[in-house]
Amino acid sequence: MKTYDIAVIGAGPAGMTAAIYARRAGKSVALFEKNYPGGQMVSAHEIENYPAEGKISGFDLAEKMFAQTTEAGADYIGEEVTALEPGSPLRLKTPQGEYLARAVIIATGTVRSRLNIPGEERLNGRGVSWCATCDGAFYRGREVAVIGGGNSALSEALYLSSLCKSVHLVHRRDQYRAESSLVERVRAAGNITEHLCALPVSIDGEEKVTSLTLEQNGRRLRLDVDAVFISVGGKPEQNLIAGVEKDTNGYVKTDEQMRTSLPGVYAAGDNNSKQVRQIVTACADGAIAALNAGSAL
Ligand code: NAP
Repeated sequence: MKTYDIAVIGAGPAGMTAAIYARRAGKSVALFEKNYPGGQMVSAHEIENYPAEGKISGFDLAEKMFAQTTEAGADYIGEEVTALEPGSPLRLKTPQGEYLARAVIIATGTVRSRLNIPGEERLNGRGVSWCATCDGAFYRGREVAVIGGGNSALSEALYLSSLCKSVHLVHRRDQYRAESSLVERVRAAGNITEHLCALPVSIDGEEKVTSLTLEQNGRRLRLDVDAVFISVGGKPEQNLIAGVEKDTNGYVKTDEQMRTSLPGVYAAGDNNSKQVRQIVTACADGAIAALNAGSAL
């Protein structure tokens, strides 16, 4: 069995950048991805803060990064790593086989959080969605709701406002977490209605979504919508990071070199305990992890 110098788990911006840097340092690299390259960036309709790109769709940016990763010579392995066993070398297991690596970089990002309210799972795919770019076109000319107050929720609301008749943006506090430029654009859109200090109570409908019930100022409010887009952040997948030290919120603790508490295991990107989660910071983590992992071999 081939032993790779570095195995990178997750082909989002952190993982792809790690693979590029590790290849440039002359290391053999396996890049594992269970879905498609790009991670959450793929579902971003428009990215405006990745330097030198101006405005670019998440899909296009992901394709560009992926092309650079494969051109650099990383082995892309479209399999899900289900277990990581400590040791020297480290052992990675997928449903298709086993792989060995002298160092591993975990870059699996986060999985989208659920609201855990009635109707959310039952109507999943029948009006309930976690991706406006993927499903927004089904609701062209219709009335929809977006739940969340972060950058993702406001970006999704803006994208949907260009397709849908109207968008209800539902946030649980009176202030958004999203950056002010997005808030300004939401307020200028003309067809986005804000519902602040509003808690989602249930997503309603028999065969498909017909309404969203909120609680606002102690009162129940029903919004008649055809779709509900949930965008309330994410948490790291716990399976692969079970053996490494984490913060109280379940994010991986690393040092400045992106080393985790497990020898030979590094972590990069949104799964890390850190303040700012952006594509550029994910890329930076990936570069730091790869350079340090490479020089420690
Ligand atoms: P986020 O920043 O964590 O925001 C999640 C939002 O969902 C918050 O407003 C939160 O409310 C709300 N929320 C969480 N649980 C909820 C619940 N049970 N019920 C109702 N609302 C709930 O997540 P994100 O927007 O997905 O972004 C993830 C990271 O990627 C962030 O660091 C973000 O900056 C970054 N990102 C950046 C860009 C960009 O730069 N353009 C685009 C997308 C994402 P509270 O505010 O009350 O906590």
